Amino acid sequence: MTGIIGWPVNHSISPRLHNYWLGKNDINGVYIPLPVTPRELQAALKGLAALGVRGVNLTIPHKEAAMDHLDIVDHTARRIGAVNTIVVRENHDLEGRNTDSHGFLENLRASALDWQPSAGPALILGAGGAARAIAFALCDAGVPEIRLVNRTIARAEQLAESVGVGCKVAKLSEINMAVEDVTLFVNATSLGMEGQGDTEVSLENLPTSAVVNDIVYKPLRTSLLRQAQNRGNKVVDGLGMLLHQARYSFEIWFGVKPEITTELRRLISPNL
Ligand code: NAP
Repeated sequence: MTGIIGWPVNHSISPRLHNYWLGKNDINGVYIPLPVTPRELQAALKGLAALGVRGVNLTIPHKEAAMDHLDIVDHTARRIGAVNTIVVRENHDLEGRNTDSHGFLENLRASALDWQPSAGPALILGAGGAARAIAFALCDAGVPEIRLVNRTIARAEQLAESVGVGCKVAKLSEINMAVEDVTLFVNATSLGMEGQGDTEVSLENLPTSAVVNDIVYKPLRTSLLRQAQNRGNKVVDGLGMLLHQARYSFEIWFGVKPEITTELRRLISPNL
């Protein structure tokens, strides 16, 4: 058994993905939503091994809090400061991992074949949990300069300090200048998401050769992506990252790399 622990969790599309892959790979198992309140998180995690659970994903609001209740947290998750995947080891130890960095980069590489990490600076809009995972991914991939732009500047500065060399911070009001020579623009804020308001950043100075990746996936075509596409930029939507991070969790639990098929994208898309 596997599943996703969150509060609330019923909106999650992860059960659809993982149950599809379990079926396709002839694995006798199930992936279920597990609604757990913050107060009961520790007790829920403690019970996983006894219930024979192979692993779980974590979503809002448990990704950071869970770290205090795990036996091992790997290097990637520790750097990001959040766990989205737990592996229940044979000796019943709980290991925390984070598959968002890997999922982001795998998807970007698969969707924007011409993008080369070393070719130039990247700009990340946002400095929350997702932005942290993306900043470390881009740094490890060899992006020479990462520009962090966030509403709350202190949060961007904190992230820049954790990532280290090659990370610069700019204010939202400076974004026009900051995009001038980037090869990659990533929206890692919740802006653009249904009911959240739009990013409202001008892409006027962005080179048309730059890739624009919006990690928001509800809706799939955000206004940022429409704006970028209309001026000729290559665009990458947020569904790919979601699928690739889930795929890596599945591989960690079952040792099989499940396929991201057109059929799977079609299965998921109506829910976005
Ligand atoms: P988070 O930790 O809460 O961070 C939210 C970010 O959005 C912060 O940088 C925040 O800025 C910014 N923000 C929110 N409202 C804003 C506003 N009105 N104006 C300007 N900035 C605003 O959230 P997260 O976990 O990083 O997730 C961010 C988004 O990525 C969500 O939409 C989530 O669904 C999506 N996501 C997608 C994937 C995927 O697989 N595709 C994975 C993870 C997350 P402040 O710091 O100033 O508050």
